[in-house]
Amino acid sequence: MSVSTSHSNRLDFLQDEIQRLKDEHLYQELVVLEGPQDTEITLGGKKLINFSANNYLGLCTHPKLKQAAKKAIDDYGVGAGAVRTIIGTLDTHQELEKKLAEFKDVEATLVFQSGFLANTAAITAVVSEGDMVISDALNHASIIDAIRMVRNIDKAVYAHSDMKDLEKKLKSAQNHRRRLVVTDGVFSMDGDVAKLPEIAKLCQKYNAMMMVDDAHGSGVFGSHGQGTVAHFDLHGQVDIVVGTMSKAFGAMGGYVACTQAMRDIMINKARPFLFSTPHPPSVTASCIAAVDLLQSDASLTEKLWYNTRYFKAGMRSIGYEINSESPIIPVIAGSSEKAVQLMNRLNDEGIYARAIVFPTVARDKARVRLIISAAHTQSQLDYAIETFEKVGKELTII
Ligand SMILES: *Cc1c(COP(=O)(O)O)cnc(C)c1O
Repeated sequence: MSVSTSHSNRLDFLQDEIQRLKDEHLYQELVVLEGPQDTEITLGGKKLINFSANNYLGLCTHPKLKQAAKKAIDDYGVGAGAVRTIIGTLDTHQELEKKLAEFKDVEATLVFQSGFLANTAAITAVVSEGDMVISDALNHASIIDAIRMVRNIDKAVYAHSDMKDLEKKLKSAQNHRRRLVVTDGVFSMDGDVAKLPEIAKLCQKYNAMMMVDDAHGSGVFGSHGQGTVAHFDLHGQVDIVVGTMSKAFGAMGGYVACTQAMRDIMINKARPFLFSTPHPPSVTASCIAAVDLLQSDASLTEKLWYNTRYFKAGMRSIGYEINSESPIIPVIAGSSEKAVQLMNRLNDEGIYARAIVFPTVARDKARVRLIISAAHTQSQLDYAIETFEKVGKELTII
Protein backbone atom coordinates (compact mmCIF):
# COMPACT_ATOMS: atom_id res chain seq x y z
CA MET A 1 0.00 0.00 0.00
CA SER A 2 1.37 3.37 -0.90
CA VAL A 3 1.69 5.95 1.82
CA SER A 4 0.87 9.55 0.98
CA THR A 5 3.79 11.91 0.94
CA SER A 6 3.80 15.12 2.94
CA HIS A 7 3.48 17.16 -0.22
CA SER A 8 0.55 16.24 -2.40
CA ASN A 9 -1.33 17.96 -5.19
CA ARG A 10 -4.65 17.26 -3.63
CA LEU A 11 -5.32 20.91 -2.78
CA ASP A 12 -4.34 22.20 -6.19
CA PHE A 13 -7.97 22.54 -7.22
CA LEU A 14 -8.03 25.63 -5.01
CA GLN A 15 -5.78 27.39 -7.53
CA ASP A 16 -8.58 27.15 -10.07
CA GLU A 17 -10.97 28.67 -7.56
CA ILE A 18 -8.51 31.50 -6.92
CA GLN A 19 -8.21 32.15 -10.64
CA ARG A 20 -11.97 32.23 -10.99
CA LEU A 21 -12.22 34.80 -8.17
CA LYS A 22 -9.49 36.88 -9.78
CA ASP A 23 -11.21 36.75 -13.18
CA GLU A 24 -14.39 38.02 -11.55
CA HIS A 25 -12.49 40.73 -9.63
CA LEU A 26 -13.67 39.15 -6.36
CA TYR A 27 -10.31 38.04 -5.05
CA GLN A 28 -9.22 39.78 -1.85
CA GLU A 29 -5.93 40.10 -0.07
CA LEU A 30 -5.48 41.13 3.52
CA VAL A 31 -4.52 44.65 4.47
CA VAL A 32 -2.27 44.48 7.52
CA LEU A 33 -2.30 47.21 10.14
CA GLU A 34 1.03 48.06 11.70
CA GLY A 35 -0.01 49.19 15.15
CA PRO A 36 -3.32 50.03 16.78
CA GLN A 37 -6.77 50.37 15.25
CA ASP A 38 -7.17 54.14 15.38
CA THR A 39 -8.24 57.11 13.25
CA GLU A 40 -4.63 57.37 12.10
CA ILE A 41 -3.20 54.05 10.99
CA THR A 42 0.03 52.80 9.45
CA LEU A 43 -0.05 50.57 6.36
CA GLY A 44 3.18 49.59 4.65
CA GLY A 45 4.98 52.32 6.58
CA LYS A 46 2.57 54.98 5.33
CA LYS A 47 0.32 56.96 7.68
CA LEU A 48 -3.32 57.22 6.63
CA ILE A 49 -6.50 58.65 8.11
CA ASN A 50 -8.75 55.66 8.66
CA PHE A 51 -12.41 55.79 7.56
CA SER A 52 -13.07 52.07 7.35
CA ALA A 53 -13.18 50.72 10.90
CA ASN A 54 -16.35 50.03 12.89
CA ASN A 55 -14.58 51.71 15.81
CA TYR A 56 -17.44 54.23 16.13
CA LEU A 57 -16.47 55.56 19.53
CA GLY A 58 -12.71 55.11 19.39
CA LEU A 59 -12.91 52.49 22.15
CA CYS A 60 -10.42 50.08 20.54
CA THR A 61 -7.65 52.12 22.18
CA HIS A 62 -9.51 53.73 25.10
CA PRO A 63 -7.37 53.87 28.29
CA LYS A 64 -10.22 52.64 30.51
CA LEU A 65 -10.78 49.53 28.38
CA LYS A 66 -7.07 48.80 28.21
CA GLN A 67 -6.68 49.26 31.96
CA ALA A 68 -9.63 46.95 32.66
CA ALA A 69 -8.11 44.22 30.47
CA LYS A 70 -4.72 44.49 32.21
CA LYS A 71 -6.28 44.33 35.67
CA ALA A 72 -8.38 41.28 34.69
CA ILE A 73 -5.22 39.47 33.53
CA ASP A 74 -3.62 40.15 36.89
CA ASP A 75 -6.71 39.08 38.81
CA TYR A 76 -7.81 36.08 36.72
CA GLY A 77 -5.12 35.05 34.24
CA VAL A 78 -5.59 34.79 30.51
CA GLY A 79 -8.13 32.07 29.75
CA ALA A 80 -11.54 30.81 30.84
CA GLY A 81 -10.33 27.21 30.73
CA ALA A 82 -13.59 25.43 29.95
CA VAL A 83 -16.90 25.94 28.24
CA ARG A 84 -19.41 27.90 30.26
CA THR A 85 -21.58 24.89 31.16
CA ILE A 86 -18.65 22.93 32.62
CA ILE A 87 -16.55 25.31 34.76
CA GLY A 88 -15.76 28.19 32.38
CA THR A 89 -18.28 30.72 33.72
CA LEU A 90 -16.32 33.32 35.67
CA ASP A 91 -18.04 35.92 37.78
CA THR A 92 -16.97 38.58 35.24
CA HIS A 93 -19.00 36.82 32.52
CA GLN A 94 -22.03 36.97 34.75
CA GLU A 95 -21.33 40.59 35.72
CA LEU A 96 -21.13 41.65 32.06
CA GLU A 97 -24.46 39.96 31.33
CA LYS A 98 -26.14 41.72 34.26
CA LYS A 99 -24.74 45.08 33.17
CA LEU A 100 -25.81 44.55 29.58
CA ALA A 101 -29.34 43.62 30.71
CA GLU A 102 -29.51 46.85 32.71
CA PHE A 103 -28.07 48.84 29.81
CA LYS A 104 -30.56 47.37 27.33
CA ASP A 105 -33.37 47.44 29.90
CA VAL A 106 -34.29 43.79 29.33
CA GLU A 107 -34.85 40.80 31.59
CA ALA A 108 -31.67 39.00 30.62
CA THR A 109 -28.74 38.79 28.22
CA LEU A 110 -26.37 36.03 27.21
CA VAL A 111 -22.91 36.77 25.81
CA PHE A 112 -21.26 34.85 22.96
CA GLN A 113 -17.77 34.93 21.46
CA SER A 114 -19.01 37.10 18.58
CA GLY A 115 -22.05 38.78 17.12
CA PHE A 116 -21.97 36.14 14.40
CA LEU A 117 -22.43 33.37 16.96
CA ALA A 118 -25.04 35.35 18.90
CA ASN A 119 -27.20 35.30 15.76
CA THR A 120 -26.67 31.56 15.38
CA ALA A 121 -27.69 30.99 18.99
CA ALA A 122 -30.71 33.28 18.93
CA ILE A 123 -32.28 32.02 15.73
CA THR A 124 -31.68 28.32 16.37
CA ALA A 125 -33.17 28.73 19.86
CA VAL A 126 -36.56 30.04 18.83
CA VAL A 127 -37.50 28.40 15.53
CA SER A 128 -37.71 24.83 14.32
CA GLU A 129 -39.62 22.69 11.83
CA GLY A 130 -43.14 24.03 11.36
CA ASP A 131 -42.10 27.67 11.75
CA MET A 132 -41.40 30.38 9.20
CA VAL A 133 -38.52 32.88 9.31
CA ILE A 134 -39.05 36.11 7.39
CA SER A 135 -35.83 37.99 6.69
CA ASP A 136 -34.91 41.32 5.04
CA ALA A 137 -33.12 40.84 1.70
CA LEU A 138 -30.09 42.79 2.89
CA ASN A 139 -29.64 41.08 6.26
CA HIS A 140 -26.15 40.18 7.42
CA ALA A 141 -24.51 36.90 6.37
CA SER A 142 -24.61 35.60 9.95
CA ILE A 143 -28.42 35.82 9.96
CA ILE A 144 -28.61 34.02 6.62
CA ASP A 145 -26.30 31.26 7.87
CA ALA A 146 -28.19 30.92 11.14
CA ILE A 147 -31.46 30.40 9.26
CA ARG A 148 -29.76 27.80 7.04
CA MET A 149 -28.77 25.85 10.11
CA VAL A 150 -32.33 25.16 11.17
CA ARG A 151 -33.50 21.92 9.62
CA ASN A 152 -36.66 21.95 7.52
CA ILE A 153 -37.52 25.52 8.34
CA ASP A 154 -39.62 27.55 5.92
CA LYS A 155 -38.09 30.87 4.94
CA ALA A 156 -39.19 33.95 3.12
CA VAL A 157 -37.11 36.96 2.15
CA TYR A 158 -38.83 40.34 1.83
CA ALA A 159 -37.53 43.11 -0.44
CA HIS A 160 -35.24 45.42 1.52
CA SER A 161 -37.26 47.54 3.98
CA ASP A 162 -40.39 46.99 1.86
CA MET A 163 -43.26 46.91 4.35
CA LYS A 164 -45.85 45.86 1.75
CA ASP A 165 -43.76 42.85 0.86
CA LEU A 166 -43.17 42.04 4.53
CA GLU A 167 -46.93 42.12 5.11
CA LYS A 168 -47.47 39.83 2.13
CA LYS A 169 -44.95 37.36 3.52
CA LEU A 170 -46.53 37.55 6.98
CA LYS A 171 -49.99 36.86 5.52
CA SER A 172 -48.68 33.82 3.68
CA ALA A 173 -47.21 32.50 6.95
CA GLN A 174 -50.41 32.53 8.97
CA ASN A 175 -50.77 28.75 8.88
CA HIS A 176 -47.32 28.19 10.27
CA ARG A 177 -46.99 27.34 13.94
CA ARG A 178 -44.88 30.44 14.66
CA ARG A 179 -43.31 33.26 12.68
CA LEU A 180 -40.04 35.12 13.26
CA VAL A 181 -39.29 38.41 11.52
CA VAL A 182 -35.62 39.31 11.58
CA THR A 183 -33.87 42.47 10.43
CA ASP A 184 -30.61 44.31 10.81
CA GLY A 185 -31.11 47.50 12.84
CA VAL A 186 -28.69 49.47 10.66
CA PHE A 187 -27.73 48.23 7.19
CA SER A 188 -24.01 48.36 6.64
CA MET A 189 -23.87 49.17 2.91
CA ASP A 190 -26.16 52.22 2.71
CA GLY A 191 -26.18 53.20 6.37
CA ASP A 192 -29.98 53.17 6.38
CA VAL A 193 -32.00 52.22 9.44
CA ALA A 194 -34.69 49.51 9.49
CA LYS A 195 -38.28 50.73 9.77
CA LEU A 196 -38.59 49.22 13.21
CA PRO A 197 -41.84 50.97 14.28
CA GLU A 198 -43.65 49.66 11.19
CA ILE A 199 -42.11 46.21 11.50
CA ALA A 200 -43.20 46.10 15.17
CA LYS A 201 -46.77 46.98 14.17
CA LEU A 202 -46.86 44.25 11.53
CA CYS A 203 -45.44 41.71 13.98
CA GLN A 204 -48.16 42.69 16.42
CA LYS A 205 -50.88 42.40 13.77
CA TYR A 206 -49.72 39.01 12.46
CA ASN A 207 -48.51 37.59 15.75
CA ALA A 208 -44.86 37.19 14.80
CA MET A 209 -41.76 37.22 16.99
CA MET A 210 -39.48 40.15 16.18
CA MET A 211 -35.70 40.09 16.21
CA VAL A 212 -33.31 42.97 15.51
CA ASP A 213 -29.59 42.46 14.85
CA ASP A 214 -28.26 45.75 16.10
CA ALA A 215 -24.56 45.24 15.39
CA HIS A 216 -24.15 48.69 13.81
CA GLY A 217 -26.74 50.27 16.13
CA SER A 218 -25.12 49.24 19.43
CA GLY A 219 -23.22 52.18 20.91
CA VAL A 220 -24.40 54.38 18.04
CA PHE A 221 -28.18 54.92 18.29
CA GLY A 222 -30.09 55.88 21.44
CA SER A 223 -29.06 58.63 23.86
CA HIS A 224 -26.36 56.45 25.48
CA GLY A 225 -25.86 54.09 22.58
CA GLN A 226 -28.46 51.54 23.75
CA GLY A 227 -29.35 50.91 20.11
CA THR A 228 -32.06 51.39 17.52
CA VAL A 229 -34.84 49.95 19.71
CA ALA A 230 -34.22 52.73 22.24
CA HIS A 231 -33.87 55.26 19.43
CA PHE A 232 -37.40 54.44 18.22
CA ASP A 233 -38.74 54.11 21.76
CA LEU A 234 -39.91 50.56 21.06
CA HIS A 235 -39.01 49.14 24.39
CA GLY A 236 -40.94 45.91 25.10
CA GLN A 237 -42.05 45.53 21.49
CA VAL A 238 -38.99 43.74 20.14
CA ASP A 239 -38.63 40.21 21.49
CA ILE A 240 -34.98 39.57 20.68
CA VAL A 241 -32.13 42.02 20.17
CA VAL A 242 -28.67 40.90 19.14
CA GLY A 243 -25.78 43.26 19.72
CA THR A 244 -22.06 43.16 19.17
CA MET A 245 -19.22 44.38 21.32
CA SER A 246 -16.79 44.10 18.40
CA LYS A 247 -17.78 47.38 16.77
CA ALA A 248 -18.65 50.51 18.79
CA PHE A 249 -17.79 48.74 22.05
CA GLY A 250 -14.20 48.45 20.85
CA ALA A 251 -13.50 44.92 22.09
CA MET A 252 -15.13 41.69 20.96
CA GLY A 253 -18.21 39.58 21.49
CA GLY A 254 -21.91 39.39 20.83
CA TYR A 255 -24.94 39.18 23.06
CA VAL A 256 -28.58 38.29 22.87
CA ALA A 257 -30.92 40.56 24.86
CA CYS A 258 -34.13 38.69 25.60
CA THR A 259 -36.24 37.12 28.34
CA GLN A 260 -34.87 35.03 31.18
CA ALA A 261 -36.52 31.96 29.63
CA MET A 262 -34.79 32.49 26.31
CA ARG A 263 -31.47 32.94 28.11
CA ASP A 264 -32.04 29.66 29.98
CA ILE A 265 -32.90 27.83 26.76
CA MET A 266 -29.78 29.13 25.01
CA ILE A 267 -27.63 28.02 27.95
CA ASN A 268 -29.09 24.55 27.47
CA LYS A 269 -29.29 24.37 23.71
CA ALA A 270 -27.15 26.92 21.85
CA ARG A 271 -24.25 25.05 20.29
CA PRO A 272 -21.78 28.00 20.22
CA PHE A 273 -22.43 28.30 23.96
CA LEU A 274 -22.26 24.61 24.81
CA PHE A 275 -19.31 23.62 22.67
CA SER A 276 -16.96 26.60 22.53
CA THR A 277 -14.93 28.29 25.26
CA PRO A 278 -16.03 31.81 26.25
CA HIS A 279 -14.01 35.01 26.21
CA PRO A 280 -10.97 35.31 28.41
CA PRO A 281 -11.58 37.56 31.43
CA SER A 282 -9.60 40.41 29.85
CA VAL A 283 -12.06 40.71 26.98
CA THR A 284 -15.00 40.52 29.36
CA ALA A 285 -13.46 43.23 31.52
CA SER A 286 -13.00 45.55 28.52
CA CYS A 287 -16.63 45.00 27.58
CA ILE A 288 -17.74 45.83 31.13
CA ALA A 289 -15.65 49.00 30.99
CA ALA A 290 -17.31 49.92 27.67
CA VAL A 291 -20.81 49.47 29.11
CA ASP A 292 -19.87 51.52 32.20
CA LEU A 293 -18.46 54.26 30.00
CA LEU A 294 -21.52 54.45 27.76
CA GLN A 295 -23.93 54.33 30.67
CA SER A 296 -22.24 57.05 32.70
CA ASP A 297 -21.40 59.39 29.86
CA ALA A 298 -23.35 60.28 26.70
CA SER A 299 -20.59 62.51 25.37
CA LEU A 300 -18.94 59.86 23.18
CA THR A 301 -22.18 59.09 21.37
CA GLU A 302 -22.87 62.82 21.09
CA LYS A 303 -19.43 63.41 19.62
CA LEU A 304 -19.99 60.62 17.10
CA TRP A 305 -23.19 62.28 15.90
CA TYR A 306 -21.62 65.73 15.92
CA ASN A 307 -18.81 64.43 13.69
CA THR A 308 -21.31 62.60 11.47
CA ARG A 309 -23.46 65.69 10.93
CA TYR A 310 -20.39 67.86 10.38
CA PHE A 311 -18.92 65.51 7.78
CA LYS A 312 -22.20 64.97 5.92
CA ALA A 313 -22.84 68.72 5.76
CA GLY A 314 -19.33 69.30 4.42
CA MET A 315 -19.73 66.62 1.75
CA ARG A 316 -23.15 67.97 0.70
CA SER A 317 -21.75 71.50 0.44
CA ILE A 318 -19.24 70.35 -2.17
CA GLY A 319 -21.85 68.52 -4.22
CA TYR A 320 -21.98 64.92 -2.97
CA GLU A 321 -25.38 63.38 -2.50
CA ILE A 322 -25.41 61.75 0.93
CA ASN A 323 -28.51 59.79 1.96
CA SER A 324 -27.35 57.71 4.89
CA GLU A 325 -29.12 57.89 8.26
CA SER A 326 -26.13 56.79 10.31
CA PRO A 327 -22.35 57.29 10.64
CA ILE A 328 -21.95 54.81 7.75
CA ILE A 329 -21.56 57.01 4.69
CA PRO A 330 -21.56 55.58 1.17
CA VAL A 331 -20.02 57.94 -1.39
CA ILE A 332 -21.46 56.73 -4.67
CA ALA A 333 -18.92 56.81 -7.50
CA GLY A 334 -20.90 54.97 -10.21
CA SER A 335 -19.09 52.15 -11.97
CA SER A 336 -16.89 49.71 -10.09
CA GLU A 337 -13.92 51.11 -11.97
CA LYS A 338 -14.69 54.65 -10.78
CA ALA A 339 -15.08 53.50 -7.20
CA VAL A 340 -11.71 51.77 -7.29
CA GLN A 341 -10.13 54.90 -8.84
CA LEU A 342 -11.64 57.02 -6.07
CA MET A 343 -10.32 54.65 -3.41
CA ASN A 344 -6.84 54.69 -4.94
CA ARG A 345 -6.70 58.47 -5.29
CA LEU A 346 -7.88 58.91 -1.69
CA ASN A 347 -5.18 56.49 -0.65
CA ASP A 348 -2.54 58.56 -2.51
CA GLU A 349 -3.73 61.57 -0.55
CA GLY A 350 -3.49 59.78 2.79
CA ILE A 351 -7.06 58.57 3.31
CA TYR A 352 -8.01 54.94 3.81
CA ALA A 353 -11.56 54.12 2.72
CA ARG A 354 -12.62 50.92 1.01
CA ALA A 355 -14.38 50.68 -2.33
CA ILE A 356 -17.44 48.46 -2.37
CA VAL A 357 -18.29 47.18 -5.81
CA PHE A 358 -20.55 44.80 -7.72
CA PRO A 359 -21.77 42.20 -6.74
CA THR A 360 -21.85 43.43 -3.13
CA VAL A 361 -23.77 46.48 -4.39
CA ALA A 362 -25.56 47.22 -7.70
CA ARG A 363 -23.38 47.63 -10.80
CA ASP A 364 -23.98 51.39 -11.12
CA LYS A 365 -23.92 52.04 -7.37
CA ALA A 366 -20.29 51.20 -6.66
CA ARG A 367 -18.98 53.35 -3.87
CA VAL A 368 -16.39 54.19 -1.34
CA ARG A 369 -17.78 53.57 2.11
CA LEU A 370 -16.78 55.71 5.05
CA ILE A 371 -17.46 55.17 8.71
CA ILE A 372 -17.25 58.19 10.95
CA SER A 373 -15.90 57.87 14.49
CA ALA A 374 -16.17 60.02 17.60
CA ALA A 375 -12.38 59.83 17.62
CA HIS A 376 -11.94 61.64 14.29
CA THR A 377 -10.57 65.13 14.89
CA GLN A 378 -12.01 68.22 13.25
CA SER A 379 -8.84 68.58 11.18
CA GLN A 380 -9.02 64.96 9.98
CA LEU A 381 -12.62 65.54 8.86
CA ASP A 382 -11.76 68.87 7.21
CA TYR A 383 -8.83 67.30 5.39
CA ALA A 384 -11.07 64.44 4.18
CA ILE A 385 -13.70 66.88 2.85
CA GLU A 386 -11.04 68.94 1.05
CA THR A 387 -9.58 65.79 -0.45
CA PHE A 388 -12.98 64.53 -1.56
CA GLU A 389 -13.52 67.86 -3.30
CA LYS A 390 -10.18 67.72 -5.11
CA VAL A 391 -10.37 64.05 -6.09
CA GLY A 392 -14.11 64.12 -6.84
CA LYS A 393 -13.59 66.93 -9.37
CA GLU A 394 -10.60 65.18 -10.87
CA LEU A 395 -12.68 62.04 -11.46
CA THR A 396 -15.81 64.06 -12.44
CA ILE A 397 -17.83 62.48 -9.65
CA ILE A 398 -18.93 65.93 -8.49
C1 LIG B 1 -20.60 42.81 12.20
C2 LIG B 1 -21.94 42.23 12.20
C3 LIG B 1 -22.18 41.01 12.85
C4 LIG B 1 -21.07 40.18 13.43
O1 LIG B 1 -20.59 40.73 14.61
P1 LIG B 1 -19.15 40.22 15.15
O2 LIG B 1 -19.19 40.57 16.59
O3 LIG B 1 -18.12 40.94 14.37
O4 LIG B 1 -19.13 38.75 14.92
C5 LIG B 1 -23.47 40.54 12.90
N1 LIG B 1 -24.50 41.24 12.33
C6 LIG B 1 -24.28 42.42 11.70
C7 LIG B 1 -25.44 43.14 11.12
C8 LIG B 1 -23.00 42.94 11.61
O5 LIG B 1 -22.81 44.09 10.99
